[in-house]
Amino acid sequence: MSSVGKGVVVASIGRMLRSRNFSVNAVKIDPYINVDAGTMNPYAHGEVFVTYDGGETDLDLGHYERFLDVELSRKNNITSGQVYLSVIMKERQGEYLGQTVQLIPHVTDEIKRRILETAEGFDVTIVEIGGTVGDYEQLPFLEAARQLRLELGDGVVFVHVAWVPLLKTTREFKTKPLQHSVAELRRYGIQPDAIVVRSERPIDANTARKIALFTNVPQHAIYNSYNVDTIYKVPLLLERQGMGEFLVRRLRLEARAPDYREWEEFVAKLTSPRHVVKVGMCGKYVELPDAYLSIIEALRHAGAALSARPELVWINSVDVERRPDRLHELDVEAVIVLPGFGKRGVEGMIECARYAREGEIPFLGICFGMQLAVVEFARNVVGLKEASTTEVDPDTPHPVVHLAPEQRGIDALGGTMILGNRRIELVPGTLAASLYGSSVAVERHRHRYEVNLEYLPKLVEAGLLVSGWREDVRRVEIIELPGHPFFIATQFHPEFRSRPTRPHPLFLGLIRAALARRLEGKVGARSAASPLQAA
Ligand code: GLN
Repeated sequence: MSSVGKGVVVASIGRMLRSRNFSVNAVKIDPYINVDAGTMNPYAHGEVFVTYDGGETDLDLGHYERFLDVELSRKNNITSGQVYLSVIMKERQGEYLGQTVQLIPHVTDEIKRRILETAEGFDVTIVEIGGTVGDYEQLPFLEAARQLRLELGDGVVFVHVAWVPLLKTTREFKTKPLQHSVAELRRYGIQPDAIVVRSERPIDANTARKIALFTNVPQHAIYNSYNVDTIYKVPLLLERQGMGEFLVRRLRLEARAPDYREWEEFVAKLTSPRHVVKVGMCGKYVELPDAYLSIIEALRHAGAALSARPELVWINSVDVERRPDRLHELDVEAVIVLPGFGKRGVEGMIECARYAREGEIPFLGICFGMQLAVVEFARNVVGLKEASTTEVDPDTPHPVVHLAPEQRGIDALGGTMILGNRRIELVPGTLAASLYGSSVAVERHRHRYEVNLEYLPKLVEAGLLVSGWREDVRRVEIIELPGHPFFIATQFHPEFRSRPTRPHPLFLGLIRAALARRLEGKVGARSAASPLQAA
């Protein structure tokens, strides 16, 4: 079933093979009819992970990128929507030469074609088939997988990830659901070669024996991914159980000793922090932290490098609108105003940016968070009280953030934003340039709106500094406030490029600034009463 941790298991399998220096690729299959995740509500789906080439993909690709330390393409996320769309387009163009176009072989062939295309050039490609065994929409993918095994033989290994619940009343593991899902897989012609049991606690030998007996999988190929304090331990956990060696043997790869030195060092730092930093996370989807998954992971990576554990304080921007005074009670040491869309909660996000600016609290604004920091600055520093973004108020007299020119006239929602990598020039001598230690950066984007250049002279005159410019067209990418201990905001999404052993400079800068401020004893500094509070 979904949310059981398949993505982390897949990423961990990838890490085990990467640690043996094999080149590894990973593909996520989402059986839903949406062409991509871009049009889905974060509550339904969690974060939309953006690839370098502008794919709006499932958040599991983020796990893959972080565990494998690779950059994946939009092609690494296959959905039913994409498959059916291309089969139907081909049919309309007459490419099937008069045949009756059917689920088998035409749809399954298209699935196999897409998998094999992404697998090209890699030692191993891991394919995660999302959903639950037995779902109608998943069937063509299982059928394609069965055929691949038939065609590639030993080149294919099936790993089944299944939840084994621990019954609280009798304190026993129930293997029945797993037995049934394996029976169901076998009905489709797939016999798992290995099983990864997901469970709350380690399973006992008896349970493993029972699983082996009922599933026809030898006991040595039954692995257990029980709950651990960090997902980054899962590769080490499965490795210790011999899964890495099993996969290498089963895939007939060369036997190599794995090297986990960097990974283990990272996990050790992550799990034994010397400091805790309270980071206020302000947005409107805070009930579902998965909506900001890559930002959370980026904070953990940066924290580990600085021996600090980020303690996330979720700030619901809608609540801030009702009770802005509460912000002061949270005593956060850093503030992130999060990405987002639409009107709801916007005033609360603006208030958070103001709180960080006035309270001299280290601040990072990401995408919408940057746009709203500019709105806040225009209102409260420049004095344009009615400034806004046209996304929220199309009739604002001061559209300091507006629709990017190339976005005008686009009416389809799917895949039409400014997406993926853009090169950014960093202005010498700025905080951004010093954090990156470079004069250029390449970062991923997902937006339609941007800073209105007509207002730039006024903003700059009042003290706002543009420290990053898009290289292809002149657009504001990074802003900062000289004089503030750490105030930086970006039009792009830095979180997508953070890696466990290579934390992102902007997140590092934020945590470092929060720690420095604590040493100076400034924690708890309060800002002036807010206008919302007066209202
Ligand atoms: N809604 C804003 C835009 O489209 C910001 C998007 C985001 O935060 N990813 O420009």
